[in-house]
Amino acid sequence: MGGACNMQCEYCGHNERARAEPLERIIANIDDAARLRAPSLVFTGGEPTIHKALPACIRAARDLGFSAVGIRTNGLMFVYPDFVNRLETSGLSFIQISNISHAQTAFDAAAGVPRAHALVVQGIENALGAGFDVSVAMRVTRSSFSHIEKDIEFVLSAFDGIRSIVLRMAGFQDATLEPAPVQGMEERLPGLMAACHARGVALCFEPFAGVAPCLFRNPADLLHLFRYPAAAYFPKPPLAKKPGCADCPLDTLCNGVAGEYSHEAWPAHEGGVPQRVAAAIARAGVLRKAAPGSGSAWTDHAAEGHALTISERQTSSGESEINECILRTNYRCNEDCLFCFVDTHCAGPSDDVIERSIETIKQSGKKISIISISGGEPTLNPRLEEFLDMLRDVNAAEVCLQTNAVLLSDPAMAARMAAVGVDSAFVSLHSHDAVVSDLITGRHGAFHKTIQGIENLLAHGIFVYLSHVINSFNYATLPDFVDFVGANLKAAPIVFSFAAPHTDEIMLGGAIPRLSRVRGPLKSALDMCLDMKIPFSGLPGMCGLPLCIPGPNLRYFPDIHLVDQDSLQGVMHKNAGCSGCSLNRWCYGVRVLYVNKYGDAELEPVRISGLEPRPRDMHSRMDFFKSFFTQ
Ligand code: SF4
Ligand code: SF4
Ligand code: SF4
Repeated sequence: MGGACNMQCEYCGHNERARAEPLERIIANIDDAARLRAPSLVFTGGEPTIHKALPACIRAARDLGFSAVGIRTNGLMFVYPDFVNRLETSGLSFIQISNISHAQTAFDAAAGVPRAHALVVQGIENALGAGFDVSVAMRVTRSSFSHIEKDIEFVLSAFDGIRSIVLRMAGFQDATLEPAPVQGMEERLPGLMAACHARGVALCFEPFAGVAPCLFRNPADLLHLFRYPAAAYFPKPPLAKKPGCADCPLDTLCNGVAGEYSHEAWPAHEGGVPQRVAAAIARAGVLRKAAPGSGSAWTDHAAEGHALTISERQTSSGESEINECILRTNYRCNEDCLFCFVDTHCAGPSDDVIERSIETIKQSGKKISIISISGGEPTLNPRLEEFLDMLRDVNAAEVCLQTNAVLLSDPAMAARMAAVGVDSAFVSLHSHDAVVSDLITGRHGAFHKTIQGIENLLAHGIFVYLSHVINSFNYATLPDFVDFVGANLKAAPIVFSFAAPHTDEIMLGGAIPRLSRVRGPLKSALDMCLDMKIPFSGLPGMCGLPLCIPGPNLRYFPDIHLVDQDSLQGVMHKNAGCSGCSLNRWCYGVRVLYVNKYGDAELEPVRISGLEPRPRDMHSRMDFFKSFFTQ
């Protein structure tokens, strides 16, 4: 809102006489942010509270639909109760106090305002008293870090109800200052985190502020300190990265470290942060939109339209058949996968809509390859068995339950699914490592339940194939997953897919790895599948991978098929070289949102003379897998 400020902190470039931003320009900026569908908006400065139009701007932001509107402020103006009331009635919801420390005299001197410390303390109390969501920032340099315990203890004891303390890392590119020492942070921050946690306060680094997990010998001790807003509108300054970053599971989330740290402790994690720790950091630290429905492609509003998806195909004799019916019985889920595109907070289609969808399937009168009962998690629908029963007399080669199998760890439920005619189960299993799997799915203990569920399904004669979504936290260990499936899951077929960036939020949430990093482990995993007689599929598809990523070898694409290129418009992307690629007609390309972020240079056209793949019969997915090594 302009550079003007009512303090003159010596480290800051703002001053009393700087111009206030004109109201029209602020409103235009609010409009722009609303177009980006940001869920919250923060006014900052200089000092936004000295801009006369602040209450009007807050109201304008609320009117444009922002569910949370905040300010970053030094807190001085909050000493006036009338001012606090005005902001409250304007719709302000949260406040970030830009700096506070325990040292009253030093604070007053640095701010250049008599009694600044006492006024800010009173301001914070008034803000908390008015019910605002308040967080405070602490500016951390080597010098201020020497008394960080006192600063944090001061905040914890002076204020009741503070939401978080944000460590604003400073001392970079400044000849007069130094940043806080890595070793000191490593030794002292875990205790401070625990002290904050005990008082219900979160302690975290300011996002993208130059401190990365790999700086520390044991980042697992500090994982709650890291925050990554999954949003294009949150600026991510370019910082130093090292060659090993390309192999780090956090590569697509992290923007590196400040130059001053780049020589410090990086050898500790030359190839990046270990997979388990990286998954834990992503689970704890990726800030997704709070509001249910915001930004998701699948919400209650869309539930009716998305309850039933039917894809058709022509047989060689010109007959029209239904390839697949996907019936979504609910959106809710008992997991919360890092890459999920379903709004699992929403209930999903109503019973009426589901019943009408079943009627539509029945009345098609066509031969159906597969009916997939999907979600969210379909086993959460209390009427699931009834719905499956209604589908019994449909002419479908296969009725498949798409599930995470957590509830099927109850053998009685698996038995009931078999009794109502479920032929197959497409079970999500995204890692062989219980810790990583639970972090990806966001549910502690889910891995063991899923494994038990798979065993129960197999015991009741239901054919099981696995859904393995390749993401940042499992791609490097794809061969280990195949090994696990061979040794523990009766070599169940694996459908590989690539975490699909349906929204910017998923794209920026750290779960989507660079395609070129996936190539090596994926090829090894596919070769192992072939050696170990584990059937697989999934790479050619909108949720698969560009075929040039694993490479031109047709043995990697047992389910290859011709692709209607017109249907890819707007969602998938091909680059200039694709038109000369031998695989073009069989390839879906790459998601547009991926290209927006990483470009398309990883696509490499391949030349195979006389390529004419022989598509296999996919009439029944079960039969395709059963005859995989004999066709
Ligand atoms: S990407 Fe990984 S290795 Fe690179 S700076 Fe970030 S945390 Fe460290
Ligand atoms: S199990 Fe499926 S529906 Fe549930 S959160 Fe994971 S991806 Fe989403
Ligand atoms: S170069 Fe293009 S057409 Fe060829 S495999 Fe890659 S993405 Fe597909």
